Amino acid sequence: MRRKLIAGNWKMNGSLTANEILLAGIKADIGRPDCAVAVCVPAPYLAQCQSLLNGSPVAWGGQDISVHASGAYTGEVAGAMLADFRSTYVIVGHSERRSCHGESNEVVARKAASALASGLTPIVCVGETLEEREAGRTGDVVAAQLDAVLDGLQAEQIAKLVIAYEPVWAIGTGKTATPQMAEEVHALLRSRLIARNPGAAEVVQILYGGSMKPDNAAELMAMPNIDGGLIGGASLKASDFLAIVRAAC
Ligand code: 13P
Repeated sequence: MRRKLIAGNWKMNGSLTANEILLAGIKADIGRPDCAVAVCVPAPYLAQCQSLLNGSPVAWGGQDISVHASGAYTGEVAGAMLADFRSTYVIVGHSERRSCHGESNEVVARKAASALASGLTPIVCVGETLEEREAGRTGDVVAAQLDAVLDGLQAEQIAKLVIAYEPVWAIGTGKTATPQMAEEVHALLRSRLIARNPGAAEVVQILYGGSMKPDNAAELMAMPNIDGGLIGGASLKASDFLAIVRAAC
């Protein structure tokens, strides 16, 4: 039985004051969840998260990572820097990075490998656009996105991944994949993992992301291959985030 993971993706939101209020609200009511919980925050706030979340059930991490270890790469954040602040996770290949920053499957694969080399757990995002779904290409698109990452890893590293299926048309739109639609893609992703390493495939958490909210979280996470959520908008309000955590535990 895989443990569920609820990870908040704050995207480019927050301030020292707003974060303090949000994290205090989460800590006050989270209790001792029997699922894993994390927030992925803008890099400047990692120190704040480390200081406020240390010793709590909530882990923290970044939203992007450089493919390089160090050097003349202005604006980039290295895996070792995320690790310096005791980050557990880093999101790689979010569709907003793929579309706004031109990240290819190959770049995403290098980022996932960088994360593992720094001792971080990459949350690897895959997902199709509306156009790709309507053209019947969902399976091909997400399989190619996942396979590019798997091609760059040793079979034994696969157990250290988290995958997030985020249909692009469901992100920030209020439109959610139905549990059946999501499960179909999650099962396909699991089958790609099984082809590489059957043992590892059983432990890899495959999260759903895309307008996951308190009122749809439970039905999505009831599906056999949906092991949690990557939450955007609803992770910015403590009561909504905690309601999703409760739906998972
Ligand atoms: P929303 O939950 O706001 O749709 O965002 C999902 C997402 O992109 C998480 O990474």
